Amino acid sequence: MSTIQNPDLRRALADRVRYYNELGIYDFYYRVPQVTGTAAASDLDSTHGHQEKMPAKKLATIAESAAQDILEIVPPKPEQGVSDPTAALRLIREDLGDCTRCKLHRQGRKQIVFGVGNPHADLMFVGEGPGADEDAQGEPFVGRAGQLLNNMIKAMGLHRKEVYIANVVKCRPPGNRTPERDECDTCSPFLMRQIAVIKPKVIVALGAVSAKNLLAINAPMSELRGRFYDFMPSGARSSDPSWHGAKLAVTYHPAFLLRDPRQKGESWKDLQMVMKYLGLKPPQKSE
Ligand code: SF4
Repeated sequence: MSTIQNPDLRRALADRVRYYNELGIYDFYYRVPQVTGTAAASDLDSTHGHQEKMPAKKLATIAESAAQDILEIVPPKPEQGVSDPTAALRLIREDLGDCTRCKLHRQGRKQIVFGVGNPHADLMFVGEGPGADEDAQGEPFVGRAGQLLNNMIKAMGLHRKEVYIANVVKCRPPGNRTPERDECDTCSPFLMRQIAVIKPKVIVALGAVSAKNLLAINAPMSELRGRFYDFMPSGARSSDPSWHGAKLAVTYHPAFLLRDPRQKGESWKDLQMVMKYLGLKPPQKSE
């Protein structure tokens, strides 16, 4: 039985849930009440009765008393229960629609650049946002930086069609500027849902913007690179308990490597760490 008896309050809660759904957010958490009285917020949140560690900025937080009502009101994600990742990605793309959720939709984008590649991929690359070529062709990493990424993938013993490639924001920032915080926060729930559907073994974050958004860590590249992080997109654990998340590695964005080719050796070290984890071997010279 509902814990909220007041129909106005319940209607307001339903409106709020619909608002979050419209933003692509279907997973809700409530804060464990603080008993110490300290200002530091706990990073443990309860979701559907489980404890799950989440970056605080990704959460739609609600009062504990409303949690049961949310479970009754909230509809399932469109892709919930769809086992075929190709079909599930199509549903997420349909949910995105002709998106106008952030201001990038009116800053000159030609089209939304959703993502490309193998929906069953073990390896996923996540960049920052589309550039001019990507905006024109509707596919991530197709310009000069894309050619370099293709070469990096080939050097790992893979082909582009074997991996999945996406960006934090799906519309081109004007003049290739860095996507702003509110744009990343608005768009990234859809990326999280793509990751939760693909369930890659490894995600490579290309550049600091991607890394900081995925990890919710504000640190320089020198500190972010050179190690694996355990990564679980918000909501994925509760929707598929059999998937234990991905390893996440950080390397330089190919566009940065074009500007400073001296860093290619460092990037290769990052990719070799990924190759070792996935058991990949570089191609023979004749291939
Ligand atoms: Fe929508 Fe993402 Fe494009 Fe913003 S960047 S308009 S949230 S698809």
